[in-house]
Amino acid sequence: VTITSPDIIQQTEKYGAPNYVPLPIVISKAEGIWVEDPEGNRYLDMLSAYSAVNQGHRHPKIIQALKDQADRVTLTSRAFHSDQLGEWYEKICKLTNKEMALPMNTGAEAVETAIKAVRRWGYDVKGIQENQAEIIACVGNFHGRTMTAVSLSSEDEYKRGFGPMLPGIKVIPYGDVEALKNAITENTAGFLLEPIQGEAGIVVPPEGFLKEAYDVCKENNVLFVADEIQAGLGRTGKTFACDWEQVEPDVLILGKALGGGVFPISCVVANKDILGVFTPGSHGSTFGGNPLACAVSVASLDVLEEEELAERSRELGEYLKSELEKIDNPVIKEIRGKGLFIGVELNEPARKYCEQLTEKGLLCKETHENVIRFAPPLIIDRKDLEWAVEKIKEVL
Ligand code: PLP
Repeated sequence: VTITSPDIIQQTEKYGAPNYVPLPIVISKAEGIWVEDPEGNRYLDMLSAYSAVNQGHRHPKIIQALKDQADRVTLTSRAFHSDQLGEWYEKICKLTNKEMALPMNTGAEAVETAIKAVRRWGYDVKGIQENQAEIIACVGNFHGRTMTAVSLSSEDEYKRGFGPMLPGIKVIPYGDVEALKNAITENTAGFLLEPIQGEAGIVVPPEGFLKEAYDVCKENNVLFVADEIQAGLGRTGKTFACDWEQVEPDVLILGKALGGGVFPISCVVANKDILGVFTPGSHGSTFGGNPLACAVSVASLDVLEEEELAERSRELGEYLKSELEKIDNPVIKEIRGKGLFIGVELNEPARKYCEQLTEKGLLCKETHENVIRFAPPLIIDRKDLEWAVEKIKEVL
């Protein structure tokens, strides 16, 4: 009949570069919060492709936008205008309350773009001496896998064998305002951070940190740059995680759910004094801002607003967290997170528990060895979440 999961896994392992160790589950179909393997087993997706599927798998409105656009035009390149880009620009600028946007494709590319903008702003606007600009990043950060992103990282395994790294980077402890103050020099152009660290294991900074760090940046003419690729677009219970402390970053980086898990699109948004440093020929991307991505992205943002997914994430996240806190098991070290973005840190490796949850029909993945991340699509309803809680309680 059809090819089975073990065959597919074997084929993947034979020909694929070994840069991932997936759980042994093959997903061949998906709808909403559910995914299915070729054998017909169904799983509740508690990972949401690292928050790219906040709107749920194959949301009908997003798929319709994809199909409609695919029937018209998919790629123009930026050598010409497209009839989709303007609408997308306006939509993302209004949502973020910024004057300008720059579309790319993946999260890491948007981080690259942000770093370029911040550096050029440092030279052209702040007046930093040529080639002296510094960026401050945080211990435990994850900004992607390009050379710039791994240069920012504090993880040896992300960097080993890939040197030389990009210069002009300082790394300070996450959540430490004093360290930020001490790290800033006249050459500091920007402070880059995740408002909640995702890959580090859902690490929430001390309350007030975002606001204090923002103020320190303002006092020193340093750009506050928020990577909300994973935490933004409803995931933490607010449209943006920085909203929790009423902080409006100077530069905002988005990706993942910006394309509803349907088509890759990422972006950098900021005001004109920052993004205006780009001049024709100084930056670009063949696929960045393509009509298919723009149409999908507008629909993805519509869904987020129309279905009030941030609000939903906040309410259901509170429920999920309170249920997890009721579990009395010494293996649990800490439960943290906001909205449906919750990490359960264990005193031992989490992989075994993720495997057991998978056997019970609940897909999740460990992050940083000891943390189980629970981040279902934000369209999940209370009843399905109750079912998930039951399974989690059986395993923990
Ligand atoms: N920044 C953050 C905060 C992320 O979580 C990720 C991906 O997990 C990235 C950047 C990189 O995005 P991409 O994998 O699309 O390059």
